[in-house]
Amino acid sequence: MAATLPQKTPPERRRLRAVGARQLETWPPFGGARQRPAHNFTVDVEEYFQVSALEPYLPRRRWASMGSRVAPSMTRLLELLAGYSARGTFFILGMVAEKHPSLVRDIAAAGHEVASHGWDHRKIGDQNRAQFRASVRRSKCLLEDLVGMSVQGFRAPSFSIVRGLEWALDVLAEEGYSYDSSLFPVSRSGYGYRGGQRDPHWLDRRSGVLIEVPPTTLQRFGVILPAGGGAYFRLLPYGLIRSGLMDAERRDTVGTFYIHPWELDPDQPRVSVPLWVRMRHYGGLRRTVPRLRRLLSEFRFTTIAENLALMVPCQTDVACCRRDSGGAVEV
Ligand SMILES: [Zn+2]
Repeated sequence: MAATLPQKTPPERRRLRAVGARQLETWPPFGGARQRPAHNFTVDVEEYFQVSALEPYLPRRRWASMGSRVAPSMTRLLELLAGYSARGTFFILGMVAEKHPSLVRDIAAAGHEVASHGWDHRKIGDQNRAQFRASVRRSKCLLEDLVGMSVQGFRAPSFSIVRGLEWALDVLAEEGYSYDSSLFPVSRSGYGYRGGQRDPHWLDRRSGVLIEVPPTTLQRFGVILPAGGGAYFRLLPYGLIRSGLMDAERRDTVGTFYIHPWELDPDQPRVSVPLWVRMRHYGGLRRTVPRLRRLLSEFRFTTIAENLALMVPCQTDVACCRRDSGGAVEV
C-alpha cells in the first residue's frame, strides 16, 4: 500500500531527495512566505492515579475508590490554551471518556482534536494482540460516538510501543488509525524507541501505512535527549524544551509537546512511593502553569491532525472505528 506525496516544486523535490523519500513534507509545505510553524500541542488525558509510575504502589483495584480530579485540571488547561489561541490534540483514555463524556465534548467544542490513549492505561507489553485491539477499538468507538468525528490518532500509555512490540502499529493501521505518537526515540528504562526517527515520518507496516509523530527530542554532542514535555518540562531547565522546538523549526519540521492534566494539579493527593518516583511524578508541579504560559507565549501550537493535513494533503482515507463486532468490544 503506497501513500501519494503531493507534487513538489523543483527546490522542494531536491530537498526531499536530500532527506529521504520516506520523510514527510517539509515546512512550509507549499513554498510561499516563510513563517514559523505551529507545533503540535498534545495532552494525555488521564487521572492523577492512573500514571504508570504509580502502578506498582497503587493497584488498579483501588482506582474505583480514588476521587476524580481530571475535570478541574482540564478546565484550567482549556482556559489556558484559549487565552493564547492555541489548539491541541487530546489523547483521551477510554475509561476517562466513559466517566466524563461532557469533558470530551468540551474538548472538541473548543476546536481541539480528540484522539485515543487506549482504554485503561495498560502498557502495550502487558497486553496481547487481542487485548490491545479491543482497547484501541473500544476507545475509538466511544470517542467517535461522543464527538461525531473520526478519531485518527493514538498514543500508547507511557510511550510503551518499544522495540519488539511493533505489532501494535499493525493493529492500529488495521483498526483505522492514521497516525501514532508513541515512538519516543530515546533510550530510557521502561520506554523509548532507541534509534527511532525524530521527526514525523511514514511507517510502512504489513497491514498498511501509518504516520508516526514522535515527541520532540534534542540532539547535542551526538546524544538524543528527551525534550517533549512531561517531567522533563517540570524538572529540567525550560531551555531544553525551547531548544527542542527551535531545532525542529531549523530542520523545517514541527515539534510535538506533551503534558498531562495532573501536572496542572499541585494539590493532588500524594501516593506513598519511593523518593525517585516522588521526584519524577510530583516534582515541579507548581512550575507547570507558569512554564506553560511562557511556552504558549513564545510558540504557536495546533493539533497534530491540522499539521498532518498540511504535510500530507493527499491523505484522505480516514477510517471510523470497526463495528463488525456490533461495537460491544470487551477489554
Ligand atoms: Zn498516559
